[in-house]
Amino acid sequence: MSSTETETDIILIGAGIMSATLGTLLKELAPDWKIRVFENLAKAGEESSNEWNNAGTGHAALCELNYTSEKEDGSIDINKAVKINEQFHVSMQFWSYLVNSKLIHNPQDFIRRFPHMSMVRGEENVAFLKKRFETMSNNPLFKEMEFSDDPEKLMEWIPLIMKDRSLDEAIAATKVDSGTDVNFGALTRMLFDNLEATNVDVQYKRSVENMKRASDGSWELKVKNNDNGSVEHHSAKFVFIGGGGGSLHLLQKSGIPESKHIGGFPVSGIFMACNNPEVIEQHHGKVYGKAKKGAPPMSVPHLDTRYINNKKSLLFGPFAGFSPNFLKTGSMFDLITSVKPNNVLTMLAAGAKEMPLTKYLIQQVMLSKEQRMEELREFMPSAKSEDWDLVVAGQRVQVIKDTDAGGKGTLQFGTEVITAEDGSLAALLGASPGASTAVHVMLDVLHRCFPEYMEEWEPKIKEMIPSYGESLMENPELLDDIHTSTSETLGLSQKEPVFS
Ligand SMILES: Cc1cc2nc3c(=O)[nH]c(=O)nc-3n(C[C@H](O)[C@H](O)[C@H](O)COP(=O)(O)OP(=O)(O)OC[C@H]3O[C@@H](n4cnc5c(N)ncnc54)[C@H](O)[C@@H]3O)c2cc1C
Repeated sequence: MSSTETETDIILIGAGIMSATLGTLLKELAPDWKIRVFENLAKAGEESSNEWNNAGTGHAALCELNYTSEKEDGSIDINKAVKINEQFHVSMQFWSYLVNSKLIHNPQDFIRRFPHMSMVRGEENVAFLKKRFETMSNNPLFKEMEFSDDPEKLMEWIPLIMKDRSLDEAIAATKVDSGTDVNFGALTRMLFDNLEATNVDVQYKRSVENMKRASDGSWELKVKNNDNGSVEHHSAKFVFIGGGGGSLHLLQKSGIPESKHIGGFPVSGIFMACNNPEVIEQHHGKVYGKAKKGAPPMSVPHLDTRYINNKKSLLFGPFAGFSPNFLKTGSMFDLITSVKPNNVLTMLAAGAKEMPLTKYLIQQVMLSKEQRMEELREFMPSAKSEDWDLVVAGQRVQVIKDTDAGGKGTLQFGTEVITAEDGSLAALLGASPGASTAVHVMLDVLHRCFPEYMEEWEPKIKEMIPSYGESLMENPELLDDIHTSTSETLGLSQKEPVFS
């Protein structure tokens, strides 16, 4: 049954945006290294990175209220927003480098400029938004932010949200014109096309089923050919587990001590997509609201202009829900088979702690289309049921682990890179802020797994990411230079996007 046996330098598991980014970085830094990719599906970018499976927001903390919090003394903590904004600038610089190097030909195929707005209702929320605006707009990273609680101005900014709205309730918004809509599916496919063109061996319909460490420290992977069921064995000195929701199972199979006491909590997503071109034309931007009490941060409602398949679209959501699958194309046994003797206590502790969240997610799954329309109407009072269809989005697997701050079985909402002590294996778990910060996260993988090469690679990294190693917030001149040059290169300088 088993025939093929190969050896290579690097194996990337999964053809999503994370493997695409790591593969591209490695090709630039170590062009001679042999890279092989195994992807379970027939194409790249078909799971969470696909354009219909995520919200396509270039997360730069320009509109997401959950990246800032109010401290006990009433001041606003913007540390997380600053970090995410700096990380998005890293992605923008790397993508610009790829355009300048002719590795990406038409950036408009994956990135478009759209205003990013936050919108709140009610006196208390408006007061919070104003205070937040005053803090953020004083920071060089957010200096373009505008605020308005004037209904006439808001009618200009968000006509669809203001239409048929009673003005009895206070309402306010902030706006940053230089926000982006990113088609991460298109970007993933472009990066994989480039990798294949530079002799990276990308094998589709190949499922990695197991892995073990060989006596020389390399990794041996058992890979199933999904077409004929045959099994192949491939080995590599370094393995990146970029399996999205599939990463936890693979990490557990590696058996490394770092894989223990970690669990996964799957959260599904549903969007509503507008099918009425007249309505779609009336909205322009990504407008993020406030999450409902008890709702997880990934269910912050937003009404987004998207640009998918050369067509302007309008999506609302995501509605979070519960499904035991870890991948959209996964199995209903994913959750149960991820429970192992080493993480059962962590999982049980999380189960007890997160009962209200689980209940909330199950209730969300049960919502009828009309109940979802009611939520949309809070955002857009004139929404008509016949104009909107349900679209199932991707799965996110949130990490559960034991932490000093949260105790046993604490649910994490961020991204976690887990590495073997000797740097021979890395896995990416979690999904937020996700694809937008892929370049920063993959640079972190390089630091942790290839420390001996970082000095040699530094000049090339600086060529690709001029702000590498510097804080843009503390260097406003560099920030302005980079903002101007990346906007020009990526075709984002014009205020109104060009629709071809
Ligand atoms: C509803 C939703 C909204 C989101 N919105 C945003 C957003 O607005 N902005 C943002 O930046 N991010 C967003 N994200 C997060 C973002 O989509 C993810 O962080 C990102 O796509 C993850 O990329 P990845 O490469 O790790 O995983 P994926 O794109 O899921 O790719 C993993 C690949 O691995 C393959 N695979 C898995 N197991 C195996 C195996 N055993 N063998 C071989 N192949 C395997 C899968 O088939 C898949 O192709 C959102 C996610 C969701 C679900």
